[in-house]
This record gives sequence, C-alpha cells and structure tokens, in this order.
Amino acid sequence: MHFNGDVDPQGMRPELILVFGVVSSFDTEVGVSAIVNGRHSEKSLNYTGAAIDLDAGGPQDNLFLSTHLIIRLPEVFDVVNHGTHVHVEYQPKLSDRA
Ligand SMILES: [Zn+2]
Repeated sequence: MHFNGDVDPQGMRPELILVFGVVSSFDTEVGVSAIVNGRHSEKSLNYTGAAIDLDAGGPQDNLFLSTHLIIRLPEVFDVVNHGTHVHVEYQPKLSDRA
C-alpha cells in the first residue's frame, strides 16, 4: 500500500485505520488516492474525513479489491466500486446501534 503525494489525512476519522489493515492483506499493491483532498461529489463523506479512495491499478483489480473489502470489513463501512477507484466510507446507521 502506498499514498499518493497529495493525500491529506488531517481530520480523517480514526475508524478508517481498520480499512488500511484490510487493504494490506490484499495481494495487489493498492494506492490511497484521496482522503480529505481531491474533488468529490457535493455530499461526499471524503470532505468530513469519513471516506477514503483507493486504486488497485485498474477496473478488474478494483473489482477484486472491493469484494475483498466487503467480505472483511464490518458492516459500518460502505464500499462502492467506481471502476476508476474504490470508495470506502465509515457510515454507521442508527439501526446498527443497539
Ligand atoms: Zn470517494
């Protein structure tokens, strides 16, 4: 795993560290392309530090990576494969809380 040069972790929610651990167990080298930096859709959780963007190198690798993450991460994380990158956000629902 590596971080692109302009990646800014300031304000990143500490829960996302779990994602880095799971990414490290993926066979293919993965780049972290965005945390709070970069351009995202208007309501993107990237801006609140609750999401990260990952790139395993191409659409096929990103599909495998998103499957790997969905299987291993707890359900409070949403994983969305955008093809060009995999978006992972920490988004606990109220119904997840006992
Ligand atoms: Zn994103």
